[in-house]
Amino acid sequence: MNANATITLVTSSRFGDHDIRGEEHPEVAARLQCISDQLQAGNLAPLLRYVEPTEAGRQWLLTFHNDSWLFRFEEEVLSGRSFIGHQDNQVCYETFAVAQLAAGAAINGVDLVEGGSGGPVFCAVRPPGHHAEPNLPLGFCFLNNCVIAARYWQKQHNRRRLCVLDFDAHHGNGIQTAFEEDREVLYISIHEHPSFSFPGTGFAEETCGGRDEGGLLNVPLQPGAGDEQVIAALDGKVAERLAGFRPEALIIAAGFDGHREDDMSGLNYSTALYQMLGERIGGWAREHAGGRVLSILEGGYHLPSLAASVEAYLTGLHSVLAEKN
Ligand SMILES: [Zn+2]
Repeated sequence: MNANATITLVTSSRFGDHDIRGEEHPEVAARLQCISDQLQAGNLAPLLRYVEPTEAGRQWLLTFHNDSWLFRFEEEVLSGRSFIGHQDNQVCYETFAVAQLAAGAAINGVDLVEGGSGGPVFCAVRPPGHHAEPNLPLGFCFLNNCVIAARYWQKQHNRRRLCVLDFDAHHGNGIQTAFEEDREVLYISIHEHPSFSFPGTGFAEETCGGRDEGGLLNVPLQPGAGDEQVIAALDGKVAERLAGFRPEALIIAAGFDGHREDDMSGLNYSTALYQMLGERIGGWAREHAGGRVLSILEGGYHLPSLAASVEAYLTGLHSVLAEKN
């Protein structure tokens, strides 16, 4: 098999140990199971390679999070609490270790991209991360996997210019916090307009940095927006900003809750949009970043749509990354 043909999934059955005890909550362990079932049954099955992640060392969590939050997180979990701060952030006894494993998977993913075959690397992890702030959990997120991966990539592999591209339906406030003052990292987010959507950040005015530097590009979409609006943004201002910035690597905050069947947003994306996203992201990775791209799962709560959308995304990404030069 052509090495570029491999699709690497960094995932673990241990992510199911973040089990919120059957209470009604959309961020369930079955999310990863249905992704895995869909991929195993589909056309990509012969290309899949699974890698078991290792927990992130505390020094990497501290590249974004405060020590006081890490202590509080661990202590509250071990004391048997059922949520931290808000009912959204439900926890069980295993949650701290599982969140550390998700952050570790993101770090392992960076090493796999750097040392790997050139095929797609997808971290199928939970809990998600892009809402997590340095000192608090938010919106089902406890540790910011994408930010930790970016800091690891810079420090361990000396790739300084990074772009984090977030297509989750919601704005990644925690990623913005990390990079809004940082001209070496560009955060691009396409999301439902904050006037209508959690967490209420990510207005178009919250955009900074020049053509050839990092900073922020926020692209809010009105409720009801679908494939056409996303493609217009990708082929317009997103492509233009990436061409100016020329990142050395891309980290994708891959959330699938903009799907029209997913009631966590008012967006109207089709499954096919995720294949087009994969194709464009693969193209940018090849054009600007030597093919270096790491995708990390964020949201996506309507299980059949989540599974089909991940498959479509990987199909698109793979079709471009596996092309011969
Ligand atoms: Zn989301």
